[in-house]
Amino acid sequence: MRNFHLLLITCALLVIFAAPARAEWRKLGTYRVTAYCPCARCCGKSDGITADGTYAPGCLGLIVAAPKGILFGTLLQIEGVGVATVHDRGGAISGSRLELFFATHKEALQWGVQERKVSMWVEP
Ligand SMILES: [Zn+2]
Repeated sequence: MRNFHLLLITCALLVIFAAPARAEWRKLGTYRVTAYCPCARCCGKSDGITADGTYAPGCLGLIVAAPKGILFGTLLQIEGVGVATVHDRGGAISGSRLELFFATHKEALQWGVQERKVSMWVEP
């Protein structure tokens, strides 16, 4: 019985110390979020293809352009908006800036420029 307890304690310690850090939403702070659509006015082209080759209008989820330090495919939680996937870059998108993709130019204009708290999904 005593050995059994020791075994349990050993297992518990292994679980605590050997378990990898958990995936989590890491707060990045407040970002200045602008908006764009696939039109020529926003992109200088109108094929809808993002910097990583994604056909943006064909995506069901939200798409965001992020600075180079944030890898393509990264999930960003934008306060009040939801979770968007990084599929794009932009010349002006650096530092604490993001650009949210909208299907139409009208929607992008309606968004304008907004300050939003942003978190990044980080896996260990
Ligand atoms: Zn546009």
